[in-house]
Amino acid sequence: KDPPSRKGSMHDVPKDLMNQIKILEDLFSVDTQKLKFITERFISELEKGLSKDGGNIPMNPTWVLSNPTGRETGSYLALDMGGTNLRVCEIELPEEHGKFDIMQSKYRMPTAIKTSTAEELFDYVADCVKQFLISNNEDQNIKEMSLGFTFSYPCTQDFIDHGVLQRWTKGFDVAGVEGKDVVPLFEEALRRKNVPIKVTALVNDTTGTLIASNYTDQSTKIGCIFGTGCNAAYFENAGSIPKLEHMNLPADMPIAINCEWGAFDNEHYVLPRTVYDAQIDEQSPRPGQQAYEKMIAGYYLGEVLRLVLLDLAQKDSVEIFEHQDLTSLKKAYSLDASFLAEIESDPWENLSETEILFEKKLGIETTEQERKLIRRLAELIGTRAARLSACGIAAIVTKKNLAPCSVGADGSVFNKYPHFRERNAAALKEILGHDEVVVKPAEDGSGVGAALIAALTNQRIKDGIL
Ligand code: BGC
Ligand code: MG
Repeated sequence: KDPPSRKGSMHDVPKDLMNQIKILEDLFSVDTQKLKFITERFISELEKGLSKDGGNIPMNPTWVLSNPTGRETGSYLALDMGGTNLRVCEIELPEEHGKFDIMQSKYRMPTAIKTSTAEELFDYVADCVKQFLISNNEDQNIKEMSLGFTFSYPCTQDFIDHGVLQRWTKGFDVAGVEGKDVVPLFEEALRRKNVPIKVTALVNDTTGTLIASNYTDQSTKIGCIFGTGCNAAYFENAGSIPKLEHMNLPADMPIAINCEWGAFDNEHYVLPRTVYDAQIDEQSPRPGQQAYEKMIAGYYLGEVLRLVLLDLAQKDSVEIFEHQDLTSLKKAYSLDASFLAEIESDPWENLSETEILFEKKLGIETTEQERKLIRRLAELIGTRAARLSACGIAAIVTKKNLAPCSVGADGSVFNKYPHFRERNAAALKEILGHDEVVVKPAEDGSGVGAALIAALTNQRIKDGIL
């Protein structure tokens, strides 16, 4: 049976919670004019990031110097060290244009490793690579292969198999890595584990996404991640990057830029931050960093919801969660984005799935009115994220005059959060005034994209270019 429609059901919310909803709506809504204003600022901040003095947005050159031709061939390893999982892949690029085969294993990143040491972290990663190679090689002899290492954190790269970690993001806080080149740290771990593999290319997930999507659809001009973190990559000409002037690169040489746009508005000039966003920032391991990311990425969405609800519960003037035990609600990061996603997908008029969810996860019994507020709040937080996400895309499109084009997008929020895509597309259209920029599900950037980048790098070495 189809669940009944839940349109126009706000009238039975009592006055005080109704008022709270109004306040929250004002706090979390971003209208078209504001989106356009943010986009304008975004464009100038992208520019600033490319300048000699730099700005908040790092705009990291990646030394990926072309799109794939579609004719790349060979076997490659790809390693994806994301925020939640670790994935090892073997990728086969056959003669056929734009095709690939992939074999992969996933490993969970133990939570404790996020606050461990460089050695523990990279030993764990090297162990996973070793396991993968042993279980996928019949003769038990690990063959030497090129590895594309997708390391999705901001890195300064002087060349493609080099990358100094600028700072951890997404709640990571591993000692002894910031300010260091992560390639030798990882290669030393591989050596400790007797794994004869070398890193051919260090890749950001957005750059991988850009390259993988362009491999199968040449109209792709931007690669985006809307997942645990958020970010984008696109091609710039060397001549438009003042901070690379000293290298005397050919002005028309394309080079992929990993924007690291999560750092947009770290100076708090334009984004409509709430007290809850400020709280998230203050309590994070890196206050003052990733202002934009902290408002839109999956890692933080559940925390925004939690902080709002806790605040309401602790206000004497608001009657919500009366006589309930708030212990679980008081625990930082006890809710994640999938919690909001489930609330937003609750199809029932009385929000009975939300009721079960709250009881199970937080030990809180909710009234129907409370659930209506929670549902609306989830919608507001999810919508704000999708709409603000459009500003970054619109900024790159406008700066580079890319329309019409495709944008390849990946990440858990893009793929799993209900209505994210439609909300994002609607906002993009409001900003640009047309719908010629289509954000599509990307090809596997951290797997196939990293392999392609390793292939492109090998080809360049063979050709003696850079
Ligand atoms: C990282 C980026 C990454 C993004 C998506 C951010 O926190 O700084 O390097 O591309 O997350 O994974
Ligand atoms: Mg990823």
